[in-house]
Amino acid sequence: MFRSTLICTAAMLAACGTPPAPTPPTAPPAPPSQAAVDAHVERARALAGTDLQFLMPVCQPQPAQRAAPGDPAIEQMLQRQIARPAPEPAQVFDNLYYVGSAWVSAWVVKTSQGLILIDALNNALEASGLIEGGMRKLGLDPAQIKYLVVTHGHGDHYGGASMLAQKYGMRVVASALDWQMMETQLEFDSPQWGRPPKRDIAVQDGEKLTLGDTTITFYVTPGHTLGTLSPVIETRAGGRTHKALMWGGTSFNFGKDFGRLDSYIAQTERMRGVARREPIDVFLSNHPGWDGTVENLAALRQNPGARNPYVRGTEGVDRALRTLGECARAQRVRFMLA
Ligand SMILES: [Zn+2]
Repeated sequence: MFRSTLICTAAMLAACGTPPAPTPPTAPPAPPSQAAVDAHVERARALAGTDLQFLMPVCQPQPAQRAAPGDPAIEQMLQRQIARPAPEPAQVFDNLYYVGSAWVSAWVVKTSQGLILIDALNNALEASGLIEGGMRKLGLDPAQIKYLVVTHGHGDHYGGASMLAQKYGMRVVASALDWQMMETQLEFDSPQWGRPPKRDIAVQDGEKLTLGDTTITFYVTPGHTLGTLSPVIETRAGGRTHKALMWGGTSFNFGKDFGRLDSYIAQTERMRGVARREPIDVFLSNHPGWDGTVENLAALRQNPGARNPYVRGTEGVDRALRTLGECARAQRVRFMLA
């Protein structure tokens, strides 16, 4: 079912076939300042335009310390988020369905040979009510889930996975690094989260999962966690294929860690190249707040015949990645100033 591919081959060949471009003169890096932070945030705001403003909270200042286990503020935040009424489950493409909550996403990819679930919400109760319940409302049988993809090793994405895997026996996919974290030492934990699933399939960067007529390509995009997976999914609408990038980890909740931020910035740049080459014209997230799902589901419901709001074009996907990159650069300068 899996085919490993060397994703950079095509790009490397293309690069080898052309003479090296002259290196442009680079300006010396500006010294860290609040003005530099503001400039990155302003660039992000301009890039987000009117259609991607939902990304702007990523630009808000983040604490230099990672939240401690059992932090009451975090527990209360989780409680509040889990208690929010969930949106109605919905079909968003011919082969893609939303069965997530108001805070965390769960996506179902329908193929000719069964279903692929992406993320499992906070715990068994949510997975049962929203994923199993939502799928049944949409006419999808949870017993047909062949794979469950965990985009990263935080409990809001894996919490319902053990229950689903035990009940239906699907294979569970994550990156090797995040399997290691889930097996050994969790970065975050909460009694409101289910226990991590048992280690199963570890995918490498660029590896493909083909089930029936649909292929998902996994990119390992370290930043939010060390092994964040950002899947690229073939979606279909009205006879057309749209490639969708799901950014697998968005916020900078890891504290003052320049390595993570540098990696995050580098991954936004790398994925811009992937998005151009593929080309990718749909930007998705594993939280509904980070891809416009809240507004998009409402728009799809009100006007099912209108243009699909998830299709942002390659230009829109590029702006989304640049916006995230500018927010990460702003945070980097803030940590330098702190
Ligand atoms: Zn996370």
